[in-house]
Amino acid sequence: MIATFPHMGNIYIMVKTLFDEMGIDYVLPPKCSKKTLEIGAKYSPEMACLPLKINIGNFIESIEKGADTIFITGACGPCRFGYYAEMHREILRDLGYDAEVVALEINEKGLKDLIAKLKKLTGGKKLASLAKPLFKAYKALCMADKIDELSYQTRPLEITKGQTDKVIDDYRNKLLETKSVKETFELMRDTEQRLLNIELERKDTVKVGIVGEIYTLIEPFTNLHIEKILGNMGITAHRSLYISQWIKEHIIKQGLHIKSKKEFAVAAKPYLKTHIGGHALETIGNSVLYARGGYDGVVQIYPLTCMPEIVADGIMPAVRKDYDLPSLTLVMDEITGEAGYLTRIDAFADMLIRRKQLREEKKKNEVLLLRH
Ligand code: SF4
Repeated sequence: MIATFPHMGNIYIMVKTLFDEMGIDYVLPPKCSKKTLEIGAKYSPEMACLPLKINIGNFIESIEKGADTIFITGACGPCRFGYYAEMHREILRDLGYDAEVVALEINEKGLKDLIAKLKKLTGGKKLASLAKPLFKAYKALCMADKIDELSYQTRPLEITKGQTDKVIDDYRNKLLETKSVKETFELMRDTEQRLLNIELERKDTVKVGIVGEIYTLIEPFTNLHIEKILGNMGITAHRSLYISQWIKEHIIKQGLHIKSKKEFAVAAKPYLKTHIGGHALETIGNSVLYARGGYDGVVQIYPLTCMPEIVADGIMPAVRKDYDLPSLTLVMDEITGEAGYLTRIDAFADMLIRRKQLREEKKKNEVLLLRH
């Protein structure tokens, strides 16, 4: 078996760690690129959502490098993610590829079915042999997400501009070269320390929450590296979803039948009462939470034709009005014009910075008036 998997932000770090630890032969799909998307868009139905097209591109690029077994996560529920696995299988089969698609998902059969599929990874060894590698892989993913989050905090405040980008670029390049889990962890610890050592200004920055469909939020290729763009404009971005968090909520907790505390669902209730698939509930709920938490604005990102996010987009004006919360919506697809979107982000950022300045000036004037 030569395994592969689709890209989705830091997920490759987790899978690479797992496969390295278990001695599984694998092909790391090339980083998502315009070429990946072109391949995927060519062979997927036109109206399929963007993540499916990119996944197809990832698989074909990996199969051409020798992969024969594709591991993906799956789900059931109201949105199209529920039939991704089947679509992947059919598209690849129609193209004449005979790679096996293994969907790792918690379905109505519970944890047992997932374990049976995971058995493919153990190569005949006892299932218990998966426990330690899985734990290490999840730990690596948590560390990778923590590094990302830290970089969103240091970038807008760094005294020497470009330091955070340099640390992150170094880390990403070296990560592809690590040959063992020990090396991966050492690199991550070192990166975290390098970020913590960056000298920072003490100032109050404009804060923006990033909400939307999980794939576009997590995969930098599809969100134009939004946190980096905002960070380099001096704005602190806070992403509402991380893949480590998704795994915790949807695989670990569901598998163990542990109830999650869903603060976002409570916050979303006046606007959207139930889960409608994808991350619409999170988009609305987290926007409300950002507004209540004093954030200056939110950016909603989602792929064209994403049904749940279209519904959320329709609700956003009400949240905007109730909380006086500026928001920017970016809808991504294979013909997204990067330059046009960068101009919109730039204009949105300028507006938020100006709003904050005006608020602060007003506050100062009120204090002065009180003193006189
Ligand atoms: S959440 Fe949206 S983009 Fe993701 S699978 Fe569902 S419909 Fe497609």
